[in-house]
Amino acid sequence: MPVTPTRWLAEYAWLPNYAEPTPDVLIETDGGRITGVTPLTAGSRPPAGVEVLRDATRLPGLTLPGLANVHSHAFHRALRGRTHGGRGDFWSWRDRMYAVADRLDPDTYLALARAVYAEMALAGITCVGEFHYLHHRPDGGAYDDPNAMGAALVEAAAHAGIRLTLLDTCYLTAGVDGQALTGPQRRFGDGDAARWARRASAFQPTDPHARVGAAVHSVRAVPADQLGTVAEWARDRQAPLHVHLSEQPAENDECRAVHGRTPTALLAEHGVLGPDTTAVHATHPTSGDMALLGESRTGVCLCPTTERELADGIGPARPMADAGIRLSLGSDSHAVIDLFEEARAVELDERLRTRRRGHFNPAELLIAATSDGHAALGWADAGRITTGARADLVTVRLDSARTAGVPPVGAFFAAGAADVVQVVVDGRVVVAKGRHLTVDVPAELSASIEAVTPA
Ligand SMILES: [Zn+2]
Repeated sequence: MPVTPTRWLAEYAWLPNYAEPTPDVLIETDGGRITGVTPLTAGSRPPAGVEVLRDATRLPGLTLPGLANVHSHAFHRALRGRTHGGRGDFWSWRDRMYAVADRLDPDTYLALARAVYAEMALAGITCVGEFHYLHHRPDGGAYDDPNAMGAALVEAAAHAGIRLTLLDTCYLTAGVDGQALTGPQRRFGDGDAARWARRASAFQPTDPHARVGAAVHSVRAVPADQLGTVAEWARDRQAPLHVHLSEQPAENDECRAVHGRTPTALLAEHGVLGPDTTAVHATHPTSGDMALLGESRTGVCLCPTTERELADGIGPARPMADAGIRLSLGSDSHAVIDLFEEARAVELDERLRTRRRGHFNPAELLIAATSDGHAALGWADAGRITTGARADLVTVRLDSARTAGVPPVGAFFAAGAADVVQVVVDGRVVVAKGRHLTVDVPAELSASIEAVTPA
C-alpha cells in the first residue's frame, strides 16, 4: 500500500535540539519519510504560502517522534496482574513465567504477540526490540522451520503496524557454572553458540519493518568461551547486540565466584561491549563497570517498571549517563506498557535513590524514549522529527483529565499511554482517535492470554 504525501499541522511538536516543544509546526511526509519541518510562528512562512495549510491534517496536542521500546519479552504480558499478590522475588516470579512459556507454539505466540504489539502501538511505540529466546519445541526439539517462533514475531509486528528488531538470543546454560538447561528452559537452547549462529544466520526476513540482531541472554546463560561467537556474529553484520546485565546481585556474586570478575568485566574481555551493544538493566554495576560501559560506548536500556515489579533494585541512571552511557527504555515484562511512565521513572527513581531532585531534564528523557532507543535497535534514521527521518509521529492529548493545564514541556511527567490519540509509523496511520485501526486490542489480548494461561 503506497503512502501518499501528507501535510500535518501540529499544535506542538518536539523537534530535535529544542529543550521544549515548538508551537504550530507544519510537518510534511512522503513515502514513509519526513520531507519538511517548518515552525510557522518562528517568523517563517509555509513553503508554498498559507494555502498549503488548508489541506493540512491538524494534530491537536503534542506531537512526538516515535517511541522505541528497546526491551520486550512479548509473552510476559500474559502474566500481568497474575503475580502481584504473591511473595517471593525475581526467581519465584520466573517460575510463573516459565509455565506460560511452556504453553506457547508459533500460532499461539503469533496471536499473543500481535495483541501485545498492538497495545504498544496504542501507547505510541513505533518500534520494539524483542529479546527472543523461545526458539524450539517444549522438549528442546526444533520446529520444522527452526525459526518458526521468530517468524511469528515478525508477522505479529506487521499486523500491529510497528517495526521490530528481533534480537535472536543465545541461551545455552542454566547458570554461570555451566549447568545444563532442564525442564521449561530446554526450548531456549541451541546446544552451543556455533549452532545458535547457524540457526540465526538462516533467518533473513526481507520485510521492511523488521531486522535481526543478536543477544547474549546473560553471563548465566552463555559460557565465557562462547561469548565471542555471538559478539562476532553481530559485529560481522553490524547488527545490534543486546545482553541482560547485572539485573540481580546474585548474578554478580556467581560471576565473581566462577570467573573472578564482574559480568561487565567478563563481557568486556570477550568483545561483547561496544557502540552497537546495549546492556539491559545494569541495575547493580560497580563504578569500574560503569567506566567500562562508558569507555566502550555501550548503551544501557533501563526498564524501571519491571525492575520495580520484580524487586530488582534501582540502577544508578545519572552516574551512568555521566559516564557517557547512552540510555534507552524498555517495558520488558510488560507489567506496564507505557513509555511515559518508564521515562519519568528514570528521573523519579533517581530521586528516591539519591533523595535529591532534578537529575534529568525533559529533553533528555525524550531522547532516551525516542532517538537513542531507535539507535539501540539499529534504526538510526528514526526517532526525530526532522527532514529525512522516518515518518513516525505520536500525538498526545493535552486536554485529558491527566494532561489538561499541563504545559507541553511537562508531558513526560503527566501523560500516560492512554493519552496517545494518533500514531503514524513510517508514514502510515496505525492509531487514530485512540483506537488501533486493524486490531481489537482488548479482545485479542483477552483471547490470546486465555489460550496460554495454565489452569
Ligand atoms: Zn529481559
